Amino acid sequence: MAKFIFVTGGVVSSLGKGIASASIGKLLETRGLKVTIIKCDPYINVDPGTMNPYQHGEVYVTDDGAETDLDLGHYERFTNAKLTRDNNITTGKIYYSVITKERKGEYLGKTVQIIPHITDEIKNNIKKVVYGKKIDVAIVEIGGTVGDIESLPFLEAIRQLKLEMGRDYAINIHVTLVPYIKAAGEIKTKPTQHSVGTLREIGIIPDIILCRTEKRLSREAKDKIALFCNVDADAVIPAIDVKSIYEVPLSLRKEKLDSLIVKLLNQSCRQSNLDDWQNLVIERQKAPVAEVQIAVVGKYIALQDAYKSIYESLVHGAIANNTKLIIKKVDSEDIEKNGAGKYLKKVKGILIPGGFGNRGIEGKIKAVQFARENKIPYFGICLGMQIAVIEFSRNVCGLNGANSTEFNKKVKHPVISLLEEQRKVSAKGATMRLGAYDCRLKKGTHTYSAYRKEKIQERHRHRFEFNNQYRERMEKKGMVFSGINPQKKLVEIIEIKDHPWFVACQFHPEFKSKPDNGHPLFKEFIKASLNR
Ligand code: GLN
Repeated sequence: MAKFIFVTGGVVSSLGKGIASASIGKLLETRGLKVTIIKCDPYINVDPGTMNPYQHGEVYVTDDGAETDLDLGHYERFTNAKLTRDNNITTGKIYYSVITKERKGEYLGKTVQIIPHITDEIKNNIKKVVYGKKIDVAIVEIGGTVGDIESLPFLEAIRQLKLEMGRDYAINIHVTLVPYIKAAGEIKTKPTQHSVGTLREIGIIPDIILCRTEKRLSREAKDKIALFCNVDADAVIPAIDVKSIYEVPLSLRKEKLDSLIVKLLNQSCRQSNLDDWQNLVIERQKAPVAEVQIAVVGKYIALQDAYKSIYESLVHGAIANNTKLIIKKVDSEDIEKNGAGKYLKKVKGILIPGGFGNRGIEGKIKAVQFARENKIPYFGICLGMQIAVIEFSRNVCGLNGANSTEFNKKVKHPVISLLEEQRKVSAKGATMRLGAYDCRLKKGTHTYSAYRKEKIQERHRHRFEFNNQYRERMEKKGMVFSGINPQKKLVEIIEIKDHPWFVACQFHPEFKSKPDNGHPLFKEFIKASLNR
């Protein structure tokens, strides 16, 4: 029977619960345990797919085409757990399902209530991911902060689950902030005490308190937290700030967190071993032999989380090349105003990530032109590929005013347009081309030398596609179609001849890159940039 670790957060948001959950997953995997990680999100959207990045950060896409919380990205980067749409449970999903059942008459005669109907639905959704899947430990992270109205049904559901399963089968880890007050020269435990107090009011007693802190916790501070929060002093685990998120598993291991977890869960397994992780990730990050500056040109660059997986994948590409990465975030609207040279002259590589809508598009087109004409390695992702096609059509093929019908419906040369099947779609939720699709690579291309195989699968999230009517004209002018979807003949990857490295793909490779196994295209992009 699977065991459960419930992770809650207190005091403030952005404590890194996602990274902590992913790190615990990593540690348990190296002990030979099979893990899965579930994220519960208390918002009423069914999924984050329709939210602005400013609200939510990046939307992470799974193989099965779910648009999910970006924490699932951390889970997949740190562990080998295969995540699906079921690994992200939102309030919206739960209510949608309960109300649909109510309309069908499945609760006939009853008043449908938060307890037990909503909480049962949450519990069943959690169990569905775990049972019958040979999983040893399931980590369930509850989004939000204890004390929020929205997260109450989730907390009640995990309270009931722990009670049902009993000792040895479930533990609660509460992640809190232990702030350091500079003026007083002290760390403060009171917010943690209050947060645990709030948890206890709703019937949840933490087994482990994970304290985010910038200073070391003294024995005294640990004892104090232990006393007030009713846990063992050894169960007060400091999660001290580290330079790279990939050091978190090592730092938690040093604090013996995983030993404590397996002890509390009475789980027999071997010791954790992070030697490979240490050698392949941490050492290389610590001792780079080169440095590379890459520009990421987008419209959400002010927000750290908007291009999370892109930034991480660039880090992975740099790690694989023993290189220190410097990311220069460039706002495409600034390029519109001041030209590309001002921002891109000195960088070694240019990346344009995915995006939606009109704003900043012309600036991105200028950035691609700058990369193409100055032979700077270019990596386009999703919208970044579409922009590259538009730029090439306009400036190389002479198709004046070429555009995507996303930005101009009545354009003369719709080089990027909707497929017939997308034209009929009006609803916005989960209606894009989503998830993993096949792609066949052409030998003798940069793409092929990166992947070294013909058949690949990559994850998608877009509505618009390359318009095949223009393929021949562009081919004649030096565009190479290096990846094609065999079923629908869709263009998935383009390259440009006579350029050191110009590769752009319709899919999102950033969702499959790992720190110890960087994505081939990111590795090659960084390598090409280093050679510039
Ligand atoms: N807006 C474009 C489309 O829908 C690109 C989407 C993306 O970059 N994820 O096709």
